[in-house]
Amino acid sequence: METNRTPMLELRDIYKSFGDVEVLKGISAKIDKSELLTFVGPSGCGKTTLLRIVGGFTTATSGQVILDGEDIGKLPPNMRNTKMVFQSYALFPHMNVRKNIGFGLKLKKWPKDKIDTRVEELLALVHMEGLGDRTIDRISGGQQQRVALARALALEPKVLLLDEPLSNLDANLRVVMRDEIRNIQERIGVTTIFVTHDQYEAMSISDRLLVLNDGVIQQIGSPIDIYERPANEFIAGFVGYVNFLEGTVDAVDEGTNTSYITTEYGKLELDHDQKEIKTGDRVLLVIRPETVSLSPSHGTERPNTFHGTVESQMYAGNLAKYTVKFGDQEMVVDHYNPMGSEKFSKNTKVKVTVPHAIHVLKRQEVQGSAVQN
Ligand code: ATP
Repeated sequence: METNRTPMLELRDIYKSFGDVEVLKGISAKIDKSELLTFVGPSGCGKTTLLRIVGGFTTATSGQVILDGEDIGKLPPNMRNTKMVFQSYALFPHMNVRKNIGFGLKLKKWPKDKIDTRVEELLALVHMEGLGDRTIDRISGGQQQRVALARALALEPKVLLLDEPLSNLDANLRVVMRDEIRNIQERIGVTTIFVTHDQYEAMSISDRLLVLNDGVIQQIGSPIDIYERPANEFIAGFVGYVNFLEGTVDAVDEGTNTSYITTEYGKLELDHDQKEIKTGDRVLLVIRPETVSLSPSHGTERPNTFHGTVESQMYAGNLAKYTVKFGDQEMVVDHYNPMGSEKFSKNTKVKVTVPHAIHVLKRQEVQGSAVQN
């Protein structure tokens, strides 16, 4: 949602080309104080380039970077009040942890006793007390990540920039460090931009996500916006699986807040929460597998139900996953916590019931217009 607050950082219409190749195509975004915003998108979409433009390691072809009201677009990295943690950490291997963390403070000619106090504070912040005298080659990958973070935070930057900070860690440590980074970020309230290509990581750590594809913002929004109110087909398919079903809006009843939709396979009655959807619109229904229920084909008729046949089923204890076919349409159904409830084997005739609250995309949005929240 757009706010009236003064943003800590504002990107205004940023374009970037390398030679003939335009990799960023008009990026505009505002980042609030203390917010953690993640740039996420497929490999090569331009997220690192955008981060480097904020940090001053790459210059935009056009556009502005405004930090706390000041245009910093022409300043070198060390003159901006931003700090970047690189994917490689870029620590000094022969120095000990304490010297690495205090390096920037020494460059700024802080007195030794002040440096010592600040370094101790930072060691405590990143849970590295007692390890200050170790050299970098004698600490683990996760600990190196903590040192890089502490070093970046030493001078209290206005914006912390994290470029795929977890990519060198194994899967379990990734989750631990992700939670720890979020915890530290929230505790000290530093405005942060996090870059990752991992949608789940982005969803788990962010206040908001800025989703890029091919140098264009597809949507800026909270994890809930991205999952439950995707702006277009790209975003709908970006996190988790989605079933798409085409339809036409036959009528909208504002009184009961209901829209009546016809699909090739039957009629649906949906909650009408998206006021931009009007009678006559061609729409694409965004149906998440976990919101669909299955029942035996006999039994009472329920609204919003299609009749189909189980094409495949998989049971994984906490989840039973089905693919049901009706006509040319396949519908994936995830039934969580299936213990004790009815199971359906292959070729069984079933009823597939979709909920009343389904997000719909107007057909022209399907082509991928950018929407910002
Ligand atoms: P990844 O997740 O793979 O790191 P990314 O989204 O961070 O991808 P960028 O590193 O920003 O993508 O690169 C965007 C595009 O710009 C890519 O096609 C890349 O090859 C190109 N690119 C990046 N840096 C340069 C450069 N210095 N010279 C030429 N092309 C570049």
